[in-house]
Amino acid sequence: MKIIRKIKEMQEFSGHLRSEGKIISIVPTMGYLHNGHLSLIRVVKPLSDIVIMTIFVNPTQFAPTEDFGKYPKDFEHDEKLAKETGVNVIFYPSTGEMFTEEHLTTVKVKKITEIMCGVSRPTHFEGVTTVVTKLFNIVKPHIAVFGQKDAQQAAVIKKMVEDLNFDIKIIISPIIREKDGLAMSSRNAYLTEDERKDAPVLYKSLLLAESEIKKGEKSAENIITRMKELILTKKSVKIDYIDIVDYNTLEEIDIIDREILIAAAAYVGKTRLIDNIIV
Ligand code: AMP
Repeated sequence: MKIIRKIKEMQEFSGHLRSEGKIISIVPTMGYLHNGHLSLIRVVKPLSDIVIMTIFVNPTQFAPTEDFGKYPKDFEHDEKLAKETGVNVIFYPSTGEMFTEEHLTTVKVKKITEIMCGVSRPTHFEGVTTVVTKLFNIVKPHIAVFGQKDAQQAAVIKKMVEDLNFDIKIIISPIIREKDGLAMSSRNAYLTEDERKDAPVLYKSLLLAESEIKKGEKSAENIITRMKELILTKKSVKIDYIDIVDYNTLEEIDIIDREILIAAAAYVGKTRLIDNIIV
């Protein structure tokens, strides 16, 4: 497995692979790898000749009040897991390599970035779409894979790729969970023992919603109320939002009459966790 830290070298390497007709997949991450990340590698591995994982904690997607400075890192561990799972190249640039002081350009998807996570994180998605665009131009992939765990991010990237005509196939891969249902996340490392015990309530509330819908409940408001009641039984958990939206457009809906996404974000102690389910 090769490690590339420089943009120019990555571009030349990918350019060469492309000229040889090789299919390149990209797995963008912020590192501190867990099984959720590894599942993305396993999805694209059989579809591609070369799997390139990017590890970059992107400062532009964090607000000044957020956890950029303390985001967990362990490159040696990441390197080992990536290699074992079949990654061929890790692109591991420094912050300065990706964002020079002269950087003036951003990529912004409107409307669907202003709801859900966009309400409490108004600058987040612009940071994501800008860095993903840069990574696409650097790695030159044919295929890119993202996790359903970040459902809104996945929808935003799909929209960007469609609107800006990126010639890249986007794959969205299912959420990988701990045994008790908690969605795997690098941020779970922040949780105290008690918070970790409370955290699965987020997924339990989504399962409750799913079962209410399967029993015939059609009112989004009623479902959200039931979910809130369950979540608020846990002392360390504070809800940021619960939204029921059209799975394809992310438009909020009142009556459940189509494929929907139920998305929730909550603070468990000081840690903001997200989760979702498609029904
Ligand atoms: P991150 O390192 O948190 O930015 O995540 C990198 C990629 O891994 C994103 O596409 C995430 O959606 C995906 N991902 C993170 N956690 C999970 C999970 N539990 N299951 C599936 N994909 C995940």
